[in-house]
Amino acid sequence: MFRRFMPHILVVVALLTVGLSGGHELLSNALVDLRLRLDTRPASGEIAVVAIDPRSIEAIGVWPWPRSQHARLLEQLQRAGVRDVAFDVDFSTPSEAAGDEAFLTALQNAKSSVVLPAFRQLDAAGKDTAIHLNRPLPQFEQLAWSAFVNVEVARDGRVRSYAFGEYCDTGGAKTFLQSMGAFLAGSDAVKNSSFLVDYGIDLSSLPRVSYVDVVRGDAAALARLKDKRVIVGATAIELGDYYSVPNGRVLPGVMLQALAAESIVQHRTLLSTSTAATMAGVLLIVIIMLASWRHLSAARRALLIAMISVLIEAVALLLHDRYAVVLDTSLLQIALVAYLAATALDEIDFRGLLRHVAESRFERIAMSIGDGLVCTDRNRRITVWNPGAVAIFGYGADEIIGQPFARLRADGSDTHDLFPQQEAALPATLMPDGSTIEFDGRRKDGEVFPVEASFSAWQGADGLQYGVILRDISARKREAERIRYLAEHDTLTALINRNTLQSELAAMIATADAAADRVALLVIGLDAFQRINDTLGHAFGDSVLRAAAERLHTEIGGMGRVARLSGDEFALAIPCSAIGGTVAELADHLSHLFEAPLDAGTRHQRVKVTLGIAVHPEGGHSADELLSNAHLALCRAKMDRQGSHVLFESAIRHELEQRLTLEAELALAVERNEFELFYQPQVELLGGRVIGAEALIRWRHPTRGLVPPGDFIPVVNTSHLSEAVATWVMATACRQARDWQLAGHDIRVGVNLSPSQFQSGDLAAFVSKLLTSTGLSPRLLELEVTEDILLHDEPGVLQTFNRLQALGVSLVFDDFGTGYASLSYLKKFPLDGLKIDRSFVRDVLTQADDAAIVGSTVSLSKQLGLSVIAEGIENAATAEFLLRLGCEQGQGYHFGKPMPAADFTQRFLQVHEDTRQAGAA
Ligand code: C2E
Ligand code: MG
Ligand code: MG
Repeated sequence: MFRRFMPHILVVVALLTVGLSGGHELLSNALVDLRLRLDTRPASGEIAVVAIDPRSIEAIGVWPWPRSQHARLLEQLQRAGVRDVAFDVDFSTPSEAAGDEAFLTALQNAKSSVVLPAFRQLDAAGKDTAIHLNRPLPQFEQLAWSAFVNVEVARDGRVRSYAFGEYCDTGGAKTFLQSMGAFLAGSDAVKNSSFLVDYGIDLSSLPRVSYVDVVRGDAAALARLKDKRVIVGATAIELGDYYSVPNGRVLPGVMLQALAAESIVQHRTLLSTSTAATMAGVLLIVIIMLASWRHLSAARRALLIAMISVLIEAVALLLHDRYAVVLDTSLLQIALVAYLAATALDEIDFRGLLRHVAESRFERIAMSIGDGLVCTDRNRRITVWNPGAVAIFGYGADEIIGQPFARLRADGSDTHDLFPQQEAALPATLMPDGSTIEFDGRRKDGEVFPVEASFSAWQGADGLQYGVILRDISARKREAERIRYLAEHDTLTALINRNTLQSELAAMIATADAAADRVALLVIGLDAFQRINDTLGHAFGDSVLRAAAERLHTEIGGMGRVARLSGDEFALAIPCSAIGGTVAELADHLSHLFEAPLDAGTRHQRVKVTLGIAVHPEGGHSADELLSNAHLALCRAKMDRQGSHVLFESAIRHELEQRLTLEAELALAVERNEFELFYQPQVELLGGRVIGAEALIRWRHPTRGLVPPGDFIPVVNTSHLSEAVATWVMATACRQARDWQLAGHDIRVGVNLSPSQFQSGDLAAFVSKLLTSTGLSPRLLELEVTEDILLHDEPGVLQTFNRLQALGVSLVFDDFGTGYASLSYLKKFPLDGLKIDRSFVRDVLTQADDAAIVGSTVSLSKQLGLSVIAEGIENAATAEFLLRLGCEQGQGYHFGKPMPAADFTQRFLQVHEDTRQAGAA
């Protein structure tokens, strides 16, 4: 409804705005001016102008002229036989008496009526309110008429209208003073109303003569004035009496007065129509438009408007011409122009424009994004298919547009589950919430791949529409898969890693608990893997690890889970029910599995494995516990013997905990120098001469007192402290021996070596350096090795032995007879002597077999050219018996317990010295 009246309301509003602001006046004036220019007519000839023109000024002299000139003019005009004379020349002030007199005389003699000007003038102060009416001098006014010469200047500075006359105050009474034009036209109208001067009257047809010609009595000039109503006034520009009039013209006041008079004479006093007439016209236009708006096309409507416009102007021109009526058509024309504008606006499809802009924007975005952008109609048939969608699915737009969206699904199934429900797509809920759906898509080549899609719906021009953004997420999924794999697996061996094992172990435990089963966790350590890495390179080490992993994996298969825990540690988690034997049997089996060398790429490598086992529930309730306990068992196994396996039991934890505490204490002891070396004498059984001393370590514990080596040396030797302690022992012992040597006592010092000294560093070089730095004679240093050193069969041991012997240092086999293969070592290693273990010596007097062993050992070593010393001689009888068995040297409490160096010196070397001194004395 509102839409229907919209253009008309707009037009009325426009008209009101223009009308109230007076903006239409300009157009109104322009239209009237146009009519004045179009509708011209000649002058009536009744009115003539006597012009005070430049020629007259030139001939008569500088203005103002003496009044005698005007007197002469008046006389000549009488001679010419004019009807009336109107002077548009100021007679309100006196001039020289003769002139005034002459003019007065001329007035008295005039037969025609003469009119002189009265004009309103602003007073000297220039204030609007103080207006002064200038009238001719009283003496003139008695003989002549006076008439008003003021004209109205319109707002645009032009003179358009002219009044018939005006009421003015003359001595208190209001009298009507005719305007000069009205007087000249002989009008008898007594009204102060104005009319529009008809500027269409051709001024050139107005009879006009020069003032000077009249004064000189030029016959032709006088003839032209016969019976005319004459107006005398200045036309010379220098006299300045000029007015702007319509159509850009400028007229002298006298011509303006003459034109006004002509307008009256020719009944061309143009009168404007009333506002009511204009309103009626506007109303008529609005009614015509209302009636025709919907029935006419825009073009026809425009034509109608143009026709009405022309018709109105034609009528206006007719009224102007025939009836001297000025029809103000400005508002009518403005109304028509407004209707024309409304028609144009109506024609422009703003919605269409906006839609076009939006569509082209959408198109550009759709074409440029990498994602697939697909639109469908309400039946889910594809209507838009962008290059992104082409790239993802392989279909060209021409192949797919019009096809159902289901074509894009791997199974081609219905798409109701994907698209938002129709009800949900009502205008209020059109906006998608940004959530995505995943489904399997199918490319043109048949490949199925994961798609991520987000759907939206909106009410389009052709009903409900759907928009789908599609993304190929196969790469993303692959990447996620890869990341997950990396997080769960060991990259080197492709086995699962510790984290994964932990979670799988937890799951296995849960299942086992439910089925009253048990779960075994075997931690498998590759023995001496560090050495393989160090000597053969890390790349080779990696190959060994891979081969080991593969062997384990192949062997276990699906029975359990094999993981790599760290560098050289693997683990196997397996439900006991799946083992098909005992856990110990499985451990043995795994040990044997590694007996065959591993194929590690460039070469075959033999490795041994040591296993630590923990079985749920005894060996640990949780996966964490199980792992940690299996680790402890492995530690234990490695300490015991490489290649073995140990089943966790709580004692192990206790023991290892103690060991850890001890280790920490020992570290502190190293820092605080709590170790001391004691020395035990070694003597010649025959004669009892002290020939050597074995250096034996003691720990002076701040609370426990003196701790024997048996309580801590095994821990030291299997810890990182080993080397520091061994070095200290060796250095201290050598210094002591050197001190004794310097004091003149050739005491051979025996130092116990630990296995670590053969594994790390260069023992021979270290000893050589020590000998040099202390200055000790090499023959005074004896190194004691035990079977656990020889047993290891380290490749460097033999070489080290040789180099040590080359230095002049002797090597003896400590605790001989206690090991498994003592005799074989005698053959394998270059030794200088052996120490018969205390266990054989202790009961040698009572046990016949001990005596036999000692006896044969002594004779064997003699045959091999080795020295022999018996340990643990606690009494003289034993010493005597050993001497009889052929043993020449001994060590034991019988001769002296281990003691501090100072005690040793005092007890054995002082005596020695005393003896020496006594001998010398
Ligand atoms: P070992 O090398 O066989 O030392 C001899 C051990 O027998 C010493 O025990 C000594 O006190 C003891 N002994 C000597 N004569 C007798 C005797 O007549 N009766 C009895 N009952 N015992 C006797 P100790 O000092 O307790 O040392 C024990 C073991 O600790 C040593 O056996 C040696 O293997 C090791 N050890 C001691 N000091 C060091 C050291 O500085 N470095 C290394 N690596 N091992 C050391
Ligand atoms: Mg020893
Ligand atoms: Mg010993």
